[in-house]
Amino acid sequence: MGGAHVSFMAEEALEHCDYVCRGEADLTFTDLVACIERDELPWAVPGVSFKTAEGVVHNPRPDWVDINQVPFPDFSLLSSLKMSTYPVMTSRGCPFDCTFCSVTSMFGRKYRYRETESILEELQQYKGKQVFFIDDNFAANPRHTKELLKEMIARKTLPSWWCAQVRTDAARDDELLALMRDSNCGTVFVGMESVNPQTLKTYNKKQGVADIEYCIKRFHEYGIMLHGMFVFGSDDDTAETIDDTLEFALRNRIDSVQFMILTPLPGSRTFKELEEQGRILTRDWNLYDAHHVVFQPRLMSAYELQVKSMEAFKKFYSFPNIFGNLFLTGIRSAAFRALGFWMIRKWLRDNRWFYIYLNSLSAPVQTLGWKSRISKSIETFQLRKLKYFATEKLIHIEISQQEETFVLNLKGYLNDFSLGETFKTLYNNVPGMYQNFLINIEEVSFASEKVLIRFIEKLNNLAQRARQVEIKTALSRESISVVLKKYDLKLPSFNIN
Ligand code: SF4
Repeated sequence: MGGAHVSFMAEEALEHCDYVCRGEADLTFTDLVACIERDELPWAVPGVSFKTAEGVVHNPRPDWVDINQVPFPDFSLLSSLKMSTYPVMTSRGCPFDCTFCSVTSMFGRKYRYRETESILEELQQYKGKQVFFIDDNFAANPRHTKELLKEMIARKTLPSWWCAQVRTDAARDDELLALMRDSNCGTVFVGMESVNPQTLKTYNKKQGVADIEYCIKRFHEYGIMLHGMFVFGSDDDTAETIDDTLEFALRNRIDSVQFMILTPLPGSRTFKELEEQGRILTRDWNLYDAHHVVFQPRLMSAYELQVKSMEAFKKFYSFPNIFGNLFLTGIRSAAFRALGFWMIRKWLRDNRWFYIYLNSLSAPVQTLGWKSRISKSIETFQLRKLKYFATEKLIHIEISQQEETFVLNLKGYLNDFSLGETFKTLYNNVPGMYQNFLINIEEVSFASEKVLIRFIEKLNNLAQRARQVEIKTALSRESISVVLKKYDLKLPSFNIN
């Protein structure tokens, strides 16, 4: 595994893989592969973390890579992937130091850029195609960026359309703006972050609200679309900040927006601070996508931050704003907003469970005893019907809670009756079906294949209403598959350990 997240969470990542490449592995990855081929441990490969019998080893991180030595990616190897936009990296690192960002701890504050000749050579293959310059801050060195754009124009090495991430200060350079327009820049992604001046200071963004407004105006004058990225949830944000941001985005006719929720990314200062303050609600990394609230905000509840952020999204990507600005911002811009209309509604449908989860945080959490009521009723039933079950042990159910996961330990015998009772127990005892479940059936025997099928069907139903369902079983996935095939059923949507 490699990349920013695992670079800062190497030990946890090693629970899921054999090697972690921390930091930039462009030039050391082949050394790791060579070690694996020779069946040797990668003691001398910089930045690699791995497990040994004595414990985990973290080799020191490599120096910042000379990005001129990194070969061009060969996308022809991704034969199954149809690419419409090609990623090109021209630089790494960022001289700024925003508190929520992990770019500087991953790539450093020293801005490194590739030689113009090398970039032009790579761009040759994308002439007439769409390109995304994937740099975190494409114009951090305007002199270098202008040199590149001038050469692209002079040598006619032009994509049909390109986009890049820039800061608002790029809009203060007229020559840069003209070159961007003349080299077919279609869209810029701008970290606007907030219209709350105090939040901009808290984020250490080194820009003011007036800079953002000026930036939008200038890019529009040059016919370049803007995708404005905002981050809600700083310690100075309230529900009003979110309303103000929406009003600002609509008033300034930003072509498309991303209203993100502050996310404590490992490696960022925000992560360190929120962790120290005990305000991180979950370490379920699936939710660290800037659209789920994963920490306790200061001036709002987590639920309020979630609801307000998504409401703002919905209002921005609404019919009046898709078509209302059609003549002012053009058809392409309206098409992006129409796409947003569809995406946000789909997101809301898929994430209803998360709203219930956040809302429940303000309610006292129900603590579960080790033995459930229904388990007792099964015992009673067992006594009454003893003669029928003389040789059978019915099921014993234990439900416990480990952080966000409900653990259901089953021991005994599942027949039609005990199966129904087991799920009744679960539904009666767990507050809402939006949690993680771990169901241990290692000590369960099934009365028949039919019962196993019913059990799987019930798990599938549960999996639809829960965030994650995991099964611990002595049965192999293959043996379950055989039964499923026999009864013409689909593979279950839950995980099997
Ligand atoms: S948010 Fe942008 S400007 Fe700020 S540190 Fe990260 S890459 Fe640099």
